[in-house]
Amino acid sequence: MPRAVIMHGDHRPLTVENYDLADPKAHELRVRIAASGVCHSDLHVFEGGGVGMNLPIVLGHEASGVVEEVGEGVVGFGPGDHVVFCVFPQCGNCRFCKGGFPTLCVAGQMTKAGTLLDGTTRMSMSGKPIGQMAGMGAWSEMTVVPDISVVKIDKAIPLPQAALLGCGVVTGFGAVTNVAKVQKGATVAVIGCGGLGLNAIQAARIVGAERIIAVDNNQRKLDYAKIFGATDVVSSQFGDQVQQVLDLTGGGVDAAFDFVGIPVTAEDALRMTHPGGTAVCTGLAEPRFGFERNDLVRGARSIKGNLMGMGVFADEFPKLVKLYLDGQLMLDELVSKRVKLETVSEAFDAMIAGEVARSVIEINV
Ligand SMILES: [Zn+2]
Ligand SMILES: [Zn+2]
Repeated sequence: MPRAVIMHGDHRPLTVENYDLADPKAHELRVRIAASGVCHSDLHVFEGGGVGMNLPIVLGHEASGVVEEVGEGVVGFGPGDHVVFCVFPQCGNCRFCKGGFPTLCVAGQMTKAGTLLDGTTRMSMSGKPIGQMAGMGAWSEMTVVPDISVVKIDKAIPLPQAALLGCGVVTGFGAVTNVAKVQKGATVAVIGCGGLGLNAIQAARIVGAERIIAVDNNQRKLDYAKIFGATDVVSSQFGDQVQQVLDLTGGGVDAAFDFVGIPVTAEDALRMTHPGGTAVCTGLAEPRFGFERNDLVRGARSIKGNLMGMGVFADEFPKLVKLYLDGQLMLDELVSKRVKLETVSEAFDAMIAGEVARSVIEINV
């Protein structure tokens, strides 16, 4: 019987337990999970007690694995294939997929509460269903998912590194390449240099941005930022962070990215851009923020929301794998802590303490 980290809700501690896994139905696959990242979204669900989720639930949504069995009608996958999981499945046919907003796909809406596309799950205990976060439930040894929830990747990339592509890497990277569309020679500022921010920084480096300013209060994170490609670092411990960015750039950056998601960082991102610039918001820590209307209107600036990097995962993951294999995308350096299913709480603690770029649960590697 496979094992998984089960969240029962009511703030009860996470437990590792056995579960039953049903066979894949049509257009589904059974995947042995290799590695699974520990993301802020997992922590949010845990700290929120699983409100709106099908409890009990298996958390985890940033993962890689090896296909074991394919259901009826599955094309393009076979046993032994290495895959990266998509946080949202993408159908390719709905108005969002066709309209250039594939991470808003209607199929993705259906897995939000922790089920597969048909509203049920394949995991259960004593006949009682268990939710699968993001339609996968990746803090487990084995799962069954829709075939549009995985993308086949080159076996040359190690599976723990590949796991991170699924959420943190694709979201931070896409903020730069797909949302702000940063060009060679551009200037950028990145507020919040955790797992997402570091990937925005390395995306900016890879596309050839000239000035990459990392903004954070945590010196350890700023040290990481330099490794990933930041040309300058700014800390609010040494004065107003917006003014520091304006001074460094002679009036503001082309694009600024908020990965923190509190009101002040979202507004700071807007104020760090020059007139005509773009602020991209990814962080979700607090629901509302405000800004000076003149910064937006008289400065003709833009604010854009970034959900999961706004790309087609089937295109993004192979592109990111190639960048890693070419030595451009730094993933080894991103894995700063390795844990097991039994010690996942240690990864939460390290995240809360700001000690790590990313923790990875090694499950079958
Ligand atoms: Zn995530
Ligand atoms: Zn779609």
